[in-house]
Amino acid sequence: MIDPFGRAITYLRVSVTDRCDLRCVYCMAEDMHFLPKAEVLTLEELERLCGAFVRLGVRKLRITGGEPLVRRDVMGLFDHLGRRLGHGLDELTLTTNGTQLAKHAAALAASGVRRVNVSLDTLDAQRFAEITRWGRLDRVMAGIRAAKAAGLHVKINAVALRGVNEDEIPDLLAWCIAEGHDLCLIETMPMGEIGADRVDQYLPLSLVRARLRSRFELTESAHRTGGPARYYDVAGTRSRVGFITPMTHNFCEGCNRVRLTCMGTLYMCLGQDDSADLRRVLRGGADDAGLDAAIRAAIARKPKGHDFIIDRRTKAPSVARHMSLTGG
Ligand code: SAM
Repeated sequence: MIDPFGRAITYLRVSVTDRCDLRCVYCMAEDMHFLPKAEVLTLEELERLCGAFVRLGVRKLRITGGEPLVRRDVMGLFDHLGRRLGHGLDELTLTTNGTQLAKHAAALAASGVRRVNVSLDTLDAQRFAEITRWGRLDRVMAGIRAAKAAGLHVKINAVALRGVNEDEIPDLLAWCIAEGHDLCLIETMPMGEIGADRVDQYLPLSLVRARLRSRFELTESAHRTGGPARYYDVAGTRSRVGFITPMTHNFCEGCNRVRLTCMGTLYMCLGQDDSADLRRVLRGGADDAGLDAAIRAAIARKPKGHDFIIDRRTKAPSVARHMSLTGG
């Protein structure tokens, strides 16, 4: 699948639920309303859609949410999708908050998952409880240990938040180095109402990188994961630190991905509202050819890029939906 700007679409991120067992302050409001079950695709429907994308050239699937591991029977989906590895699919992976990872790590590895991204913004238990509103750090740590023990490569994703975890980012990197994890830092993006001011949370990563350089020697790396992160090797270690900078640097020219929500809505860009309703196509009884045609028509509308803005004059989020719906 080639979009109007000549980009090959080879990567699909699939949000399998909008629900989460945490309420991170930059991601969700405290009193979120979640989708009724009938609106959410069944695991069979999700699998069929994923199969169509793989048929059309997607080589990498990332399962996300909400929190993917809170969806009941989600391991069955991993199992089924894992069977496509080596048959068009190169990689099956997930992004998780890690709270349920201890329970599922071994089964994930058995289904063919090799790498997981675990979101973790702090190593301080009290701060973790504050950022996530009610999470427990020890559960995530147990999850990360289980993932390692199951042979999964762990990458830590942390959102850089001004005045919240900015003082701790060098220690987070030191911990990742000691544990053999890569670290990927993310700027907070203006997605969805969260009942807080994003200007207060926003911390440009250019500043974070400059500060890290006073403690670590960072050299630009050629490493690419096919995503928006720019990586640096940390001299004298086997770890890398990546920076995802949607706010300070627009990286859309290399975008290879689209995102499917648990309602079957396909977003061609994380930062734009245009979408395609694949659930209607699916539940309307489309055969495989009909489904493929609907997907191709959507890809033909993929926009050039996002235009996120966070400033004092722009009070409303750039896109109304929360990250937990589209999947981070
Ligand atoms: N529950 C899973 C997890 O915690 O990784 C998957 C979904 S979560 C929405 C995916 C990632 O998006 C997390 O790393 C989270 O920190 C990040 N995220 C959520 N809202 C964000 C925002 N407004 N700006 C930047 N990153 C955000």
